[in-house]
Amino acid sequence: MDNVKVRFAPSPTGPLHIGGARSALFNYLLARRYGGKMVLRIEDTDLERSSRQSEVNIIESLKWLGINWDEGPDVGGDFGPYRQTERLNIYTNYAKELIEKGLAYRCYCSEEELEGQRQAFIAKGELPRYSGCCRNLTKEQEEKFLQEGRKPVVRFKVPADQLVVIDDLVRGTVTFESNGIGDYVIIKSDGIPTYNFAAVIDDYLMQITHVIRAEEHLSNTPRQVMVYEALGWKLPKFAHISLILGKDKTKMSKRHGATSVVQYKEQGYLPEAVVNFLALLGWSSGGEEEIFTMEQLIEQFSLDRVAKNPAVFDMEKLKWINGYYIRQSSVERITDLAIPFLQDAGYLPQDITPEQYEWTKLVVTSVQEKIHSLQEIIDFMKLFVGEKVEFENEEAKLVLKEEQVPRVIEALRTKINEMDIIEPEGVKKALKAITKETKLGGRKVFMPIRVALTGQMHGPDLHYIIAILGKELVEKRLKHTLSKN
Ligand code: GLU
Repeated sequence: MDNVKVRFAPSPTGPLHIGGARSALFNYLLARRYGGKMVLRIEDTDLERSSRQSEVNIIESLKWLGINWDEGPDVGGDFGPYRQTERLNIYTNYAKELIEKGLAYRCYCSEEELEGQRQAFIAKGELPRYSGCCRNLTKEQEEKFLQEGRKPVVRFKVPADQLVVIDDLVRGTVTFESNGIGDYVIIKSDGIPTYNFAAVIDDYLMQITHVIRAEEHLSNTPRQVMVYEALGWKLPKFAHISLILGKDKTKMSKRHGATSVVQYKEQGYLPEAVVNFLALLGWSSGGEEEIFTMEQLIEQFSLDRVAKNPAVFDMEKLKWINGYYIRQSSVERITDLAIPFLQDAGYLPQDITPEQYEWTKLVVTSVQEKIHSLQEIIDFMKLFVGEKVEFENEEAKLVLKEEQVPRVIEALRTKINEMDIIEPEGVKKALKAITKETKLGGRKVFMPIRVALTGQMHGPDLHYIIAILGKELVEKRLKHTLSKN
């Protein structure tokens, strides 16, 4: 495919949503796969709900995911401006052209009149729609309306008895009847274009070749196609990607988990895990493989492997993928990412010393294999901080009643006291030495020490726990648990 040019066209009315991020990703992958270009266009024509804050959130979320673009409000480009509110005169001029050609017209109906028309259709048992009553106004009638102070909208004249056929790259051929579509507004009375008009003008002028967007826009597409045809423009290719459903097969919503990208970042998901997961919401490679880096996705992505049926948002799968990328990352990277979580939870101060950094690194090393998100580190922290230990259950308590325990604890105290610096390798050796010297098996040594220090029978490697606790806390915890027994 040559000269592929795609766009992601969010409305900045809230933070970047998971569904929007997936649309952006699919566009990005197609562009990069074919050496094409990607545009970021901000569709801010809903003046009430749009904000710069949302635009900033969208841009930052996309960048966090590793999605970038060649043209956009922040990077410029030859086809700008890239915010629709900065292009209003362009839309007005095309609306004028359509009016002059008799393909659009000004409509002066008030809200009440429109409602009356809708009710009349309903009374006749027909679909409520606009009646078309302003289609053929004379100059004099228009003058009169203007003198009454009415502000017109511009409506597109929907041709009667036409079939609008869309060859969708994902959904196949989809046909709509024009008779079901009333003449729709393309410019509102305040001069602001509607989505269905502005998107067409921009997609054409920005030379977009592929329009990839959510399935919920499929019903808008015939309206857009009619505008292309009225202006004599070549259609881009369309691809409408399926809805994202929750596990219960209802539309993905807050009930199913976080819906915005930034929430996933805040919960400790890595960008490459979110990208990998989003790609699998509708796309598959055809094989069993589920782990794909951005580079692999760029190499393999194609629209013909995008499924028609809805994608199901499976949180467990996201966690699994995130756990995979956490394990694959260097300890340093995960440490850097974990620090803000530990700071927020009060386990680290805002300014950390080199010692605190090293300590955090040990914590991360001990749990890196076990966590599925950075946030989960917090769940482990009670193992590593504080003087007191809670037994997780009666079974754990019983471990400390075993007859060898006093000997084992004594041996541990001696070893720890002998050490100048407590670091994992040294502790590991010391623990091994205790099993030898006491002639006890591993379990009989390790389990009571683990329970005495953490109250739990499972957890991260013991030599890490001891190194993280340090001499002082080890002693305090031993005292505390042994006094309870
Ligand atoms: N602004 C629209 C939205 O955010 C864009 C739809 C499209 O890609 O055409 O849903």
